Amino acid sequence: MSLPCVDLRSDTVTRPTEAMRRAMCEAEVGDDVLQEDPTASCLEARAAELLGKEAALFVPSGTFGNQLALFTWCRRGQEVVLSDSSHIVQHEAGAASVIAGVHLRAFSPIRGYPCWADIDPRLRRARDIHFPETGCVALENALSNGEVLPQDVLTEITSGVRREGVPLHLDGARIFNAALHLGVEASAIASAVDSVMFCLSKGLCAPVGSMLVGPRDFVRAARWKRKIMGGGMRQVGVLAAAGLVALSSMRARLGEDHEKAAALAQAFEATGAVEVQPRPTKINMFFVRFKAPHLRGREEDLVSELAHRGVRTYPPDEGWVRFVTHHDVSSEALSETCRVVRETVQRLAG
Ligand SMILES: *Cc1c(COP(=O)(O)O)cnc(C)c1O
Repeated sequence: MSLPCVDLRSDTVTRPTEAMRRAMCEAEVGDDVLQEDPTASCLEARAAELLGKEAALFVPSGTFGNQLALFTWCRRGQEVVLSDSSHIVQHEAGAASVIAGVHLRAFSPIRGYPCWADIDPRLRRARDIHFPETGCVALENALSNGEVLPQDVLTEITSGVRREGVPLHLDGARIFNAALHLGVEASAIASAVDSVMFCLSKGLCAPVGSMLVGPRDFVRAARWKRKIMGGGMRQVGVLAAAGLVALSSMRARLGEDHEKAAALAQAFEATGAVEVQPRPTKINMFFVRFKAPHLRGREEDLVSELAHRGVRTYPPDEGWVRFVTHHDVSSEALSETCRVVRETVQRLAG
């Protein structure tokens, strides 16, 4: 008997828990475009409170939330300063050019994450007819590469960006993972930025949805623009109910996902044949590739061999294979995965 497939492609593959399904079933609902859905309003109030911001808005996805933030902060033709490896640049289908009509001023961070020295020279200070205006700066925490932005690096960016009067948006898809790693409340991260998007549908296991959080006026404007984007949803309390369960009972267990990622990364490292990034792991996500130059390129085989043995992940991206742990990976599945990893890597590395 083979074990059921262990899906390590992403924490987005998590399914809603029993408690979520019950809450969805029993949710009190109304027409949320008329702001009459009590469950959606409750989720928005709770999200704002958790992040220490004035208001919040439920949106269909993380991509929607990020794009809505750019659309709300910026005018067409303005520029957004951000890392070239960020989700907005790499994984949002070029939406910023379509929706907000902005120009992305993407930089390669000097270190593994952006710092003020990356951003400072890219803010447009001169009023020159040749230059676009800076519309906002966008950061991520946790980052798409599995890193976490240290709080002192973030606050240095914050003071610099605030001095210039430019809004600062945070793609906090996994903000609770970042907060857990840093040992701070998510509100301590959020207080350093103007707006935050975070996902309910990743490690927190809700089936659908993200939140866009920020100042009251910003959220009021975003509610209007969400309607423009076709994101005004009616009895959305059915989904918000799962989001409320995600916030109340799924944050505290994220540490288990971090521990599982660390254990799996350890199994990879113990083979001696692959390198792991970041090291040590920070959240529930890490990347591997073969160490030996003659094995580079064999990461494709690693992915297909693992899939053959019931361990799924995405094909390598620029030579690196990503693994993401989550709620639906049981301890038994994890130990089995560690065993499969050891055998597969050793066989490929010969
Ligand atoms: C997943 C993710 C998003 C977008 O979320 P979707 O709900 O998949 O659109 C944005 N930013 C980061 C860093 C993410 O990991």
